[in-house]
Amino acid sequence: MDSRDEVRDREICMAAWDGPDNPSGAVAPPVYQTSLFAKPTFGRFVAEQAAEHENPVYSRGTNPTVAFLEERLALLERGEAAKCFASGMGAIAAVLAGTLKSGDHVLFVNTVYGPTLELAEHLRRFGVEHTALPDPPADIGPWIRDDTALIYLESPGTMLMRVLDVPALAAQARRRGIRTVIDNTWATPLHQKPLTFGVDLAVHSCTKYIGGHSDVVGGVLVGSREAVREVFYQGHQLFGAAMSAMEAALVLRGLRTLPVRMAEHRRNAGAVVEALAAHPRVAAVHHPAVAHGPDEALVRRQFRGYSGLLSFELEDGSFDRVARFMDALSLFRIGVSWGGYESLATSPQRPGNGDELRARGLPPGLVRLSVGLEGAAPQIADLERALAEV
Ligand SMILES: *Cc1c(COP(=O)(O)O)cnc(C)c1O
Repeated sequence: MDSRDEVRDREICMAAWDGPDNPSGAVAPPVYQTSLFAKPTFGRFVAEQAAEHENPVYSRGTNPTVAFLEERLALLERGEAAKCFASGMGAIAAVLAGTLKSGDHVLFVNTVYGPTLELAEHLRRFGVEHTALPDPPADIGPWIRDDTALIYLESPGTMLMRVLDVPALAAQARRRGIRTVIDNTWATPLHQKPLTFGVDLAVHSCTKYIGGHSDVVGGVLVGSREAVREVFYQGHQLFGAAMSAMEAALVLRGLRTLPVRMAEHRRNAGAVVEALAAHPRVAAVHHPAVAHGPDEALVRRQFRGYSGLLSFELEDGSFDRVARFMDALSLFRIGVSWGGYESLATSPQRPGNGDELRARGLPPGLVRLSVGLEGAAPQIADLERALAEV
């Protein structure tokens, strides 16, 4: 990676609150804990309300603490504008439900986040159809329809960590005038900048690495000024999944250490991947660092670094074995979500759900790990102890 880019990203993450409204020199942003902003004249009120996407009028729309975070995240993604939401799903729902109309079709490429597909299923009742390609084909051309209005990517996917050729997919969509969205949560805006590959909109769950401390739920959407404005009026204002000022302050606190945390997640995950790949009870390890063949070239071209979310397959993929492994862990805790300081383990395996796993393109015995910041040695020791008991 270009080191100037790295320096710039660090500056963006660590920028202090500045400007004329900071006479005290506070380095952390003030939390604008207010629902509304009163204006000195009715004329000014009318003017600001006419452009609520850029003026603080009411905190469901624009709030200065949240706006500061939005500005940071837009810069990191190399987008023109960003809008924060109460959750990642808030951002995803605002894009899908806010911009699509009856008769539109959406193409989902890769193993997309489960609730995103559940929302797509829900939108069928409003006449929005979709096709999901959990096992991405070399050419998605045959699945693009005349009514395809949106191509939704996730790269890597967050179960099998498969990587897409994002620039090629973005170019293919653009030729046909179709908008593209990518869920960029795995890589964070530090390690992958999909807008520079021609993708129109990037979404993140800020709950994961961007927040990083498992104490906040949030989401963000980044793209061109025009596209973000469209989602603001049609998806954010109307559905109301607004991020609060307090949540924005917590996400901003996380953002300041994002570069140093990601370096450590990457170091630990690299060592964990190596240890698992060499273990006789592990059938396969999934992480972009161990991609091979054509995927390896994609990884090198598209990523500036790795995160700590990976998965692996137990040799014996029965529910009992998975449960025995999980219960034998102690440093890795059992739970949903990922990207926090703490190491976590989970699995899509349930008693008797083999058919469902096959339909989702997931192998039996799949365990997903979020490698935290405790250090590679105790993390590997915990995994090896648990594998010995399987
Ligand atoms: C968690 C997650 C989301 C949803 O974000 P929330 O903040 O939980 O609503 C979306 N995409 C991916 C890949 C996720 O892991």
